[in-house]
Amino acid sequence: MQSLSTFIPPERTLMGPGPSDVNPRILNAMARPTLGHLDPLFIELMDQTKQLLQYAFKTENALTMPISAPGSAGMEACFVNLVEPGDKVLVCINGVFGMRMVENVERCGGVAITVNNTWGEQTDLNAVEDALKADPAIKVLAFVHAETSTGVRNEAQALCALAKQYDCLSIVDAVTSLGGIELDVDGWEIDAIYSGSQKCLSCVPGISPVSFSERAVNVIQNRKTKVQSWFLDMNLIVGYWGQGAKRAYHHTAPVNSMYAMYEALLILREEGLENAWKRHADGHEKLAAGLHDLGLELTVDSNYRLPQLNVVKIPEGIDDASVRKQLLEDFNLEIGAGLGEHAGKVWRIGLMGYACKPRNIDHCLAALRAVLK
Ligand SMILES: *Cc1c(COP(=O)(O)O)cnc(C)c1O
Repeated sequence: MQSLSTFIPPERTLMGPGPSDVNPRILNAMARPTLGHLDPLFIELMDQTKQLLQYAFKTENALTMPISAPGSAGMEACFVNLVEPGDKVLVCINGVFGMRMVENVERCGGVAITVNNTWGEQTDLNAVEDALKADPAIKVLAFVHAETSTGVRNEAQALCALAKQYDCLSIVDAVTSLGGIELDVDGWEIDAIYSGSQKCLSCVPGISPVSFSERAVNVIQNRKTKVQSWFLDMNLIVGYWGQGAKRAYHHTAPVNSMYAMYEALLILREEGLENAWKRHADGHEKLAAGLHDLGLELTVDSNYRLPQLNVVKIPEGIDDASVRKQLLEDFNLEIGAGLGEHAGKVWRIGLMGYACKPRNIDHCLAALRAVLK
């Protein structure tokens, strides 16, 4: 066996679709001594984390907590709890993550009805309304707020209003939107929402904040069938994460990752939500101007592009993989490749959380200038 030594990663600048650069404060928080997961001090931290999450999501929902697993588990938690066999779910697809929602619906035994829009464009509200009107049995409307695969923002507020109007529950993917653009869970009457730690919260990967409205909780408590996932059954998780009541062992929380999550939310609270949204918008303006100077083109319409995820068209004759390789090796800079039908055609430059700052934008532009020359 070869001799093995401690792994010391290089200091990269992470400007892809996530994970984003982690604030050193968060890494320091993670390195603190591990507590027992039922230690009174840890339980206090859990309560404070829930309060900070309510702030971040703009909600009073009691069922608001971080799931001990990545964003995909948050997605699954929303679907397995709200979708029972035979339930109809209208899913809006305009990128990879909408497609994953369909997978989730089908694995719950539900029936997925889809509204498909071209990648790079928004979900068409009229098409959604037509579909809801055509089938009054639809129980849930599901969509992605910030489509990380295409850099498109969908109209979350209007989509949730349609869900209400047609008496459906809404499931919203806010993995990339939370902390980066405006999001208002109570104001927009969202029923179930999930996010991720490693995008605009700039935390380490592996945690997924979720929140459920009272309406959603009623549906979960009155299911005809058991939630088919034991680990993600909200009826059981509340025993561990529930407010006030004596905590019961459900699973061992990733204690140090929860320190990290708490610190990330504290940093967001200190900055203020609106200031964080503005910082992302400003960062995007600066990046877009610099890319324009380099002759590079953003693919998404400025009315609905995501400031935190910039999709850049790869110029004719430029080799995608070798550019990204050179950025990584010579500049310690990671940018994202195109996903799915966009593979090889675009780069995705993330400006998420701690990574969204002028120094990084200058570094990225200088590196691109050097590599593309
Ligand atoms: C990253 C992402 C996910 C999945 O999150 P993981 O933490 O990778 O499981 C889901 N939806 C969107 C929109 C994402 O950007």
